[in-house]
Amino acid sequence: MARAPNAPQQADRIAAPAISREDVPVRVYNFSAGPAQMPLPVLERAASELTDWAGSGMSVMEVSHRGKDFVACAADAEAALRRILAIPEGYRVLFLQGGASAQFAAIPMNLTASGETVAYLNTGQWSAKAIAEARAQEVEVVVAADEADSAYTTTPAPGSYEVPAEARYLHYTPNETIGGVEFPEIPQSHAPLVADFSSSILSRPLDVSRFGLIYAGAQKNMGPSGLAVVIVREDLLGRARPSTPSVLDYARMAKADSMLNTPPTFAVYLLGLITHWIEESGGLEAMGQRNQAKAALLYQAIDGSDFYANPVQERSRSWMNVPFTLADPSLDSEFLAGAQAAGLTNLKGHRSVGGMRASIYNAMPIEGVRALVDYMTEFERTKA
Ligand SMILES: *Cc1c(COP(=O)(O)O)cnc(C)c1O
Repeated sequence: MARAPNAPQQADRIAAPAISREDVPVRVYNFSAGPAQMPLPVLERAASELTDWAGSGMSVMEVSHRGKDFVACAADAEAALRRILAIPEGYRVLFLQGGASAQFAAIPMNLTASGETVAYLNTGQWSAKAIAEARAQEVEVVVAADEADSAYTTTPAPGSYEVPAEARYLHYTPNETIGGVEFPEIPQSHAPLVADFSSSILSRPLDVSRFGLIYAGAQKNMGPSGLAVVIVREDLLGRARPSTPSVLDYARMAKADSMLNTPPTFAVYLLGLITHWIEESGGLEAMGQRNQAKAALLYQAIDGSDFYANPVQERSRSWMNVPFTLADPSLDSEFLAGAQAAGLTNLKGHRSVGGMRASIYNAMPIEGVRALVDYMTEFERTKA
């Protein structure tokens, strides 16, 4: 591609701030709950293509979303997602905006008429938000199970709750990102199952055929923020209330291939790179094995010490988000400062929970978890 005569030369480029001092590692192990660490090969690939994508002389952010190159890019991201999740025929994949939070309202708007009954399992802060948004849509919300008695450190045992016969769907949160509580099984339900997989999608194989609708914000395990993925069974489409904004109307978005308006193009492109990275890393089977091993390493370190503790019932411990407390909370800030200095960042727990939280999504290598466990062991040895 020939350069335009006014293309900036090396010397005219805007000076970038120095991001790698000698005493700071270039890449840290980032334990943030979200937006979260992304796979290094994906970032390197995106960086290498940033000024000239697919020989266009433009970045992927600068091309028309309706041009054939971007349409192919979005189709490729969807195809790769369908392959790794083995999404069966009869499901539509939508790329939407407004995060998972917009879907909290869009789900009742699309799946119910005003006054109908829906069922929710309440296992923590994200399910509570979904419930509040559903109530605002004038549906009858039945909370079929509420884990308040355990302070949201458990998931309901299978068979311990009933879903009303008239419920249009059963909604649950497979992984509560803040509490670190994860369902070890898929709930049984006669009503279509609707699941907020924001913080655990692509972490292991999933039987999509068990679900009516799966949704997830991308910024934990699938890419940057700004993109929400909805996987919806076709027979659930076409019941949206007339008042539903068109960009949240699943049937209209499906008909328009998620391009009723301008999609978050860069996020869709990164989703494509990430799904290919997963495929090249052995798919969800391999991801699941890696994630299980990472979580086991960290929980063993916590359980094997009197200094660290995790409150979650063993069967419901999250593979993705591991909250833990120090026996002496007055050491929290020292723990965090030392971790930061060792290149282990964003370990501070959610403001509502306190303590620490290590989010160990797909992009966190086991070496990062080992580095954290070594740091924790050393901190305990010198402080306990
Ligand atoms: C992060 C998160 C959300 C919110 O996602 P947004 O994209 O910020 O709306 C919802 N549910 C769960 C389980 C999450 O982890």
